[in-house]
Amino acid sequence: MVSVDSDIGDSWNLKAFNYLQYIPTGLLSQGFISEDVPHFSRGVFHNLSSLVFHLWSLVSGLSSLVFPLWSLVSRLSSLVSRLSSFLSGLSFPSPVSRLWSFVSFLGIPTSPANRSWTMGFTGIFNTLPSFSTLFFAGLGVLWLHLVYFTENSLQPPTPDVVPFQSYDGMELIILGSGTCVPSLTRGSPASVIRISDQILLIDSGSGTLERLLRVGITIHDVDVILYTHTHPDHVADLVPFLFASKYDWAPRDRDLTIIGGKGFSTFFDALIKTYGKWIQSELFSTHLRESEEDTHHFPGFRILTKPMTHLPESIAYRVETEDGRAVVLSGDTDYNPNLVKLAADTDILVLESAFPDEERVKGHLSPSVAGRIASESRCKKLVLTHLYPICDTIDLKSQCASTYKGPLVIAQDLMRFQL
Ligand SMILES: [Zn+2]
Ligand SMILES: [Zn+2]
Repeated sequence: MVSVDSDIGDSWNLKAFNYLQYIPTGLLSQGFISEDVPHFSRGVFHNLSSLVFHLWSLVSGLSSLVFPLWSLVSRLSSLVSRLSSFLSGLSFPSPVSRLWSFVSFLGIPTSPANRSWTMGFTGIFNTLPSFSTLFFAGLGVLWLHLVYFTENSLQPPTPDVVPFQSYDGMELIILGSGTCVPSLTRGSPASVIRISDQILLIDSGSGTLERLLRVGITIHDVDVILYTHTHPDHVADLVPFLFASKYDWAPRDRDLTIIGGKGFSTFFDALIKTYGKWIQSELFSTHLRESEEDTHHFPGFRILTKPMTHLPESIAYRVETEDGRAVVLSGDTDYNPNLVKLAADTDILVLESAFPDEERVKGHLSPSVAGRIASESRCKKLVLTHLYPICDTIDLKSQCASTYKGPLVIAQDLMRFQL
């Protein structure tokens, strides 16, 4: 929920923040910074301007709090001294003296030097913060709130974002364990396989680019994209991927390989026809490969594909390292003996399990059918994914256990498996 003052804060901050961001652009256009400045240096300028902005905001906010706080402290100390003289006055033997010390505590004038009744009566009330004190303190708090709370709300939730780290091994990451159905817990289909520093993205449903960042991978780190088929929930982020790869300040400059099923180039050509130069770059080439029952060789690993039963072009992938570690991903499919062959003895078998057994839909698997494929292929671990919301209301594991007794994991977004 967005509160009203956040709205004001956001627009206010955006203006100030954007202005400071553009200072480096201005310097660039004036020739003060060379065009040859590497992108990371521009990043430093951007960070520097945001640092100055934050320091400035912090100093202004704190300084407007100093006066009210000082005033409050001096008033409190005055209250304490009045109170202590009143308490010591209570021990006077004469009732008149005791009354006198009470009158003096209230601040009622007791000597010719303090004739003003107004001054006298404000004595006790002077110990409370004045209107102006509250006003300035309020301004200070509001300022800090606008700058920090609303500013932070514009930033990605950083605790979830891990920096890119080189990884010496093989790793599978489930980016999206869901479907086409919008969900706060299960993103659209996408997975990553890392083999040392090589990054393979398998499918790219909507939200993939953001979830890549959450596991410390940028679009520039991706070497190969593998598409199981062209249903929108599996390809939605391809256009944003290519468009963002052209982003002026950090364009991609490494070639990209995309593998898809039969007819994928026709689909890709249609995208180029629609978006033209917005998704085409002069800085890198996109190498398309159509695949049915094929093997693709890469340094240190190979990718095997076999046709599946879903759309005519649907294929499943086996990614296998030179030393024999393997991950198989089915994409969307019904039962198909090809999948059993492709997944033979694999370390991890990632199968779709779109609906529960009792709701099974043609062209998709259910937990017990997925279990049958897992048993027949003798995979070492089964991961069920592509889960429609109904799957979260039933016990998938026990349905799957009717046909498969091995290790079983129900996929969650951002889940990682090391091999
Ligand atoms: Zn599909
Ligand atoms: Zn799907």
